[in-house]
Amino acid sequence: MSLGLYIHVPFCLRKCRYCDFVSYAYNRNDAELYLNALNREMEYYAQRRLDFNTVFIGGGTPSILETDHLERLLYSARQHFQWTEDAEVTMEANPGTLTEEKLYVMRRMGVNRLSLGVQACQQSLLNTLGRLHDYQQVIQAVQIARVVGFNNINIDLIFGIPGQTLHQWQKTLATVMNLQPEHLSCYSLQLEEGTPLAEAVAKGKINACPEELELQMYNDVIDFLIKKDYQHYEISNFSKPGFNCEHNITYWKNNQYLGVGPAAHSHMQMQRWSNTTELRQYANNLMDNDLPVVERHHLTRQDAMSETVFMGLRLIKGLDLDQFYRRFGQGVYDIWPQQINKLTDQDLIEMSEGYLRLTYKGLRLANQVFVEFV
Ligand code: SF4
Repeated sequence: MSLGLYIHVPFCLRKCRYCDFVSYAYNRNDAELYLNALNREMEYYAQRRLDFNTVFIGGGTPSILETDHLERLLYSARQHFQWTEDAEVTMEANPGTLTEEKLYVMRRMGVNRLSLGVQACQQSLLNTLGRLHDYQQVIQAVQIARVVGFNNINIDLIFGIPGQTLHQWQKTLATVMNLQPEHLSCYSLQLEEGTPLAEAVAKGKINACPEELELQMYNDVIDFLIKKDYQHYEISNFSKPGFNCEHNITYWKNNQYLGVGPAAHSHMQMQRWSNTTELRQYANNLMDNDLPVVERHHLTRQDAMSETVFMGLRLIKGLDLDQFYRRFGQGVYDIWPQQINKLTDQDLIEMSEGYLRLTYKGLRLANQVFVEFV
């Protein structure tokens, strides 16, 4: 079974208007504090002698770290953990923060997949989202990354942005094709409570994207990318053959992963736990030789089975029924016969060729399906 390592880098230049991730305004002193603590945390887990198939350095904005700090982070991760020879090693980056020097350090230290937060091509939409880059910086970042040797690049896009038209979304999709990304993640905007964008919508200063338009945008991205020979392999993810994101597949198959850094979550040995989101508490705990864990949940067999079903259903291929049986000694239908019958009658799921999967309709009403298995 594959094992993933997630490293959370909790810094950004400035908070985007829709973001509720854990990130702090970057400064070099805090980055020092963070790296020292992170090294301690990795030192602790190194005793477990873990072998990772995938590594994902996310955030926040990992590429905001200065070159020497990036090198230190990657060196520390390499020093404390084994990565399999063919490990997929992803780093998230924002276009405006990447330099040639940083990209060379990333490649030299084993990063082989770059995930770029692009979101949209139109400056007005980037402004609505509060993103700091412009599309010209995206083009430059991809050009340099290709020269440096990155042949596995993901582009993150957002649809359903307030004020976004169908034409703008189609134009964004067509424009990013010029970058020839190996992978695209296309998520609809979630208006998270407490974010400036959600507040602006609540106060009527800006209109949320109508649901029908958002659905049209989702249908469009699927049709468009399939025509461009991308495989639609997860609800929101598309790849050229051989370029699925293996790290995220670890999550969707409900396999194990270790998360380090503030706010990082882990799932190992029938437990889920999460670190404090507070940078200073994180650092203080580790300097006092304590783990910065603030929540730990022991999973029951029922928890594990539920999670495996609703995460597995995110994959277009569906949940592998044999694998489920081998893992839990029971079939999915034996546990949820009524739910499966009901959802099948509603044409939301189907069982065929050894998989349980969402139908065309179910893909668009996925949350309605998932709650049945919780
Ligand atoms: S760059 Fe990403 S993590 Fe940072 S504030 Fe923006 S959305 Fe949040």
